[in-house]
Amino acid sequence: MSLMQHVYHKCGGCGKKQEFVNSGKFRVNANGNKVDVWLIYRCKKCKHSWNLTIFERTKPSRIPSDLYELFLENDEETALQYGNDIEFLKRNNAELK
Ligand SMILES: [Zn+2]
Repeated sequence: MSLMQHVYHKCGGCGKKQEFVNSGKFRVNANGNKVDVWLIYRCKKCKHSWNLTIFERTKPSRIPSDLYELFLENDEETALQYGNDIEFLKRNNAELK
């Protein structure tokens, strides 16, 4: 856990830039034949949540089923992998230090 990438973002709760912490939880929203998957971060100060997009309106068939299961189970290992994926963090406009 100590190797976790520090992530900064403007908090909608505090109204200023704060450090956000990987909650280790995914949010999956299946709507018809489209799926959204987010990894949830929380403001270190006020716990306001910030969802980082992993899949956006993606056809379920395009998401590997074993990976999809890991999202549903809030798999810690998978959450850590995304939390250290610089490309993923940058795509979500996370500021890194
Ligand atoms: Zn905050």
